[in-house]
Amino acid sequence: MNRIKIDVASALADRRLQATLFPALQRSVESRDEAVSEVENWEELRDYGRRVKLHTLEKLPFYLEKLEKNVVGHGGKVLWAESGEDAVRMILTIARERAVRKVVKSKTMLGEEIHLNQGLLKGGLEVIETDLGEYIVQLCDEMPSHIVTPALHKSRHDVAELFEAKLGMEPTDDVAKLTLTARNVLRRHFLEADLGISGVNFGVAETGTIVVVENEGNARLSTSLPRVHIALMGIEKVIPRTVDLSVLLKLLTRSATGQRLTSYVNLISGPKREGELDGPEEFFLILVDNGRSQIYEDQFLRQTLTCIRCGACQNICPVFQRLGGHAYGTVYQGPIGSILTPQMFPIAAVEEHPFASSLCGACEETCPVKIEIPKILLRLRQQVQEARNHGIQRFRPERIGMLMWAWVVSSSRRYAIASRWLRRLQSVLFRNGRFRPAVPPVSAWQKDRDVPGLAPKRFREYRESEGAEH
Ligand code: SF4
Repeated sequence: MNRIKIDVASALADRRLQATLFPALQRSVESRDEAVSEVENWEELRDYGRRVKLHTLEKLPFYLEKLEKNVVGHGGKVLWAESGEDAVRMILTIARERAVRKVVKSKTMLGEEIHLNQGLLKGGLEVIETDLGEYIVQLCDEMPSHIVTPALHKSRHDVAELFEAKLGMEPTDDVAKLTLTARNVLRRHFLEADLGISGVNFGVAETGTIVVVENEGNARLSTSLPRVHIALMGIEKVIPRTVDLSVLLKLLTRSATGQRLTSYVNLISGPKREGELDGPEEFFLILVDNGRSQIYEDQFLRQTLTCIRCGACQNICPVFQRLGGHAYGTVYQGPIGSILTPQMFPIAAVEEHPFASSLCGACEETCPVKIEIPKILLRLRQQVQEARNHGIQRFRPERIGMLMWAWVVSSSRRYAIASRWLRRLQSVLFRNGRFRPAVPPVSAWQKDRDVPGLAPKRFREYRESEGAEH
């Protein structure tokens, strides 16, 4: 089993990233705060959103079947994929049967999760990302670094260099010109594509409508110009009613981009009807499990599935603000990634992820559906520890150190002897009140931490001398 490690060192050493990341995230936090401050009953809306999502999870099979029935009623087809591989296979089959050659995709994190692009390319299809951020990371052959703004780690100068190299564009870092160039290139792909693939923000069970929110109009073109539209939806995205959608949309857009509403909210109910000019001839909804049922089984952890992927927890997280998304090495990063990834992968493979948090609680405070992220992180840390205790990892130096520490502090005599010796060694171990550079791995730990020197007297000795004075 390959372990996915968090690459802290590279992220901190990347000057370009550090210059771009924090200001961009700070702007997102400020926009979100401003948008939220306009809504007087924001807390009530958050409670409502949480209740709706938890209620839906409790009755998940019922609402999914209702959604399926209503989508089919609109002339759509619904497929159920147990795993990511199943979903990719289904899409390839649909594409092959219809002689599809070119695919345009609008943003889908589920697509990233199941490595859809790689699967489609292997299947001989040409795949074009049409969300500008996704298009940029596709040109760089990178992964998105944020669930809402995939190219957050790129400055406009980075994008200018990229477009110059890949699209032969004249050198410029004028954002309007860069956007126009991408738009012109993408427009041709929209017209040539046979198949459009989109994600789904919400699937409304009562009407059989899928909802895709966006700002660029690319999702609208991807879902209506090609003759076939496939919508990929995680099973947790279903919601009961349209009235719930109105609240969840408000929570999502204000939290994600600080907008009252995104520029486009696409409500799609099946393929085009007879006599209609626009829309695809065929519409497929693929409901993807890919480990979600397993998360669903735990009554406490299942709240992870109420996430509406707004990215607000990433923006506010002090760890994410320093590292950015790529350091995590996984599709979902930051606080949501640190609780979702360990539940989707074998926990030993991603054991660092639940620890990539200061537990400051900012993520829970900002989360529009009030997911108890710090508590979930603690539960996952416990699971990591249990896994370590059961494996070879029980011989890790950290564990040996903790066992020795426990042995010393569990006896007042041993503790007194140890502290007496440490105080004697203080002149050797400390210089100018700071711990001297030590040997690896302690030196690596010390790089970002100060170790205060020991007090000249033990606490008990102070108490005793104070007692003698009185
Ligand atoms: S956990 Fe909450 S804040 Fe983070 S992406 Fe999901 S809904 Fe948004």
